[in-house]
Amino acid sequence: MVPRLRLALIAHDEKKDDMVAFARAHEGYLAACDLVATGTTGGRIVESCPALSVRRMKSGPLGGDQQIGALIAEGAIDALIFLVDPLTPLPHDVDVKALMRLAIVYDIPMALNRATAEVLIGAREAA
Ligand code: PGA
Repeated sequence: MVPRLRLALIAHDEKKDDMVAFARAHEGYLAACDLVATGTTGGRIVESCPALSVRRMKSGPLGGDQQIGALIAEGAIDALIFLVDPLTPLPHDVDVKALMRLAIVYDIPMALNRATAEVLIGAREAA
């Protein structure tokens, strides 16, 4: 049996609609994953996709990105989808960078835009 994918989902404000559209498009597959998200992103996903259950951490600017980074360091996350907005300055930019760094250190798949997220999930849906 294939183990459930432990997937972390984060989207910056300008990318939250994109994340919701992504979650709706893949709701069937995501329902079979263990999902964790930063607070606002998780709230938006659950509102739009009632079939999904999401463990919600704090909002990103309040430490949610660091909480997800800690889960990666503990080996509790298999993949990260982080829809980043490169056009808006963010108060928690250092946390965002630290989270990406941990995803690289622990060598987990990390999608930073919708196109890569589609490739990541598409490959798993097909498996
Ligand atoms: P949010 O956090 O989902 O709580 O908005 C995301 C972020 O900005 O890192």
